[in-house]
Amino acid sequence: MIVVMKAHTEKENIEAIIEKIQTLGYLPHPIYGVERTVVGAVGSEKERERVMEILGNMPGVERVVPILKPYKLASYEVKQGPSSIRINGGIEIGPGKIRVIAGPCSVETEEQIVETAKIVKAAGAHALRGGAYKPRTSPYAFQGMEKEGLKLLDIARRETGLPVVTEVLNPKDVDLVEAFADVLQIGARNVQNFPLLKAVGGIKKPVLLKRGMSTTIKEWLMSAEYILSEGNQDVILCERGIRTFETATRNTLDLSAIPVLREETHLPVIVDPSHGTGYRSYVAPMAYAAIAAGCDGLMVEVHPRPDEAWSDGAQSLTPEMFSEMMAKVKIFTEAVGRSLD
Ligand code: PEP
Ligand code: MN
Repeated sequence: MIVVMKAHTEKENIEAIIEKIQTLGYLPHPIYGVERTVVGAVGSEKERERVMEILGNMPGVERVVPILKPYKLASYEVKQGPSSIRINGGIEIGPGKIRVIAGPCSVETEEQIVETAKIVKAAGAHALRGGAYKPRTSPYAFQGMEKEGLKLLDIARRETGLPVVTEVLNPKDVDLVEAFADVLQIGARNVQNFPLLKAVGGIKKPVLLKRGMSTTIKEWLMSAEYILSEGNQDVILCERGIRTFETATRNTLDLSAIPVLREETHLPVIVDPSHGTGYRSYVAPMAYAAIAAGCDGLMVEVHPRPDEAWSDGAQSLTPEMFSEMMAKVKIFTEAVGRSLD
């Protein structure tokens, strides 16, 4: 529910409401406006009527309205206008910008990750990606370098200054990954791993939440809500393709999700055309299309020698392809009135 305070109400009244919301077992989300403050109260729906009545009778309150959307904190009902999320390195992901996260599917060796970081930085990427914990379909496939991989990402960050985005697979690894990563990625396979979502909801770093390969937009936003409702407001959504009957591409990149999300949520939306298509020659065209459709950024797999990659080589861009793509990304970015800077 949303508690709408009277215009110019005293600070004490707002503080009392926040405290009352907490004692009632709800999470308060105050939004301070110039004239008026509204306080979102999020929690169990069971006692909604009673709680609305208690809050509605408190001093300084104009009215209390229920939040109609099932994803409350992700919706515009609690936060008006698009969110801009700050990540380490002074980078903002949100309106007016296009941000590009690039790097290999997996961290393999120090040479490989540092070389890739330098390549993507030189071509204009804003952040480095690289998996240290890999969710693989086969238990016999390379599972990632784990903690060693995190340390190599740290070296690449120090060498280039690029912030690092890396996946966490298991709630028990969240603290460790948080210590190394600038943004924690939740992969498609874990989009409904609720204990993991709750765990990253309790941290202080932004979370990049990929869409599941068979989650609807509503289910995806409900997953974001798990993170937001634990207190972490910095969630970036990443469309990475869904599974359809089509086999010519690895997944079907659902770019129509972008305008839908724009109407439904204030959270930033980025697009991963690498997992979205599965083939390197399809990556750049879909990246341009994603910018045209209104995304806030891209996540792209790049490898210095894709044919030798330990995972996802077929969809990884060569360094040359990445710099060519970035030159055109600039044109598309400007065409939609955004900036890469
Ligand atoms: C990845 O980013 O390397 C990855 C495993 O992505 P997804 O979860 O989208 O399959
Ligand atoms: Mn990959």
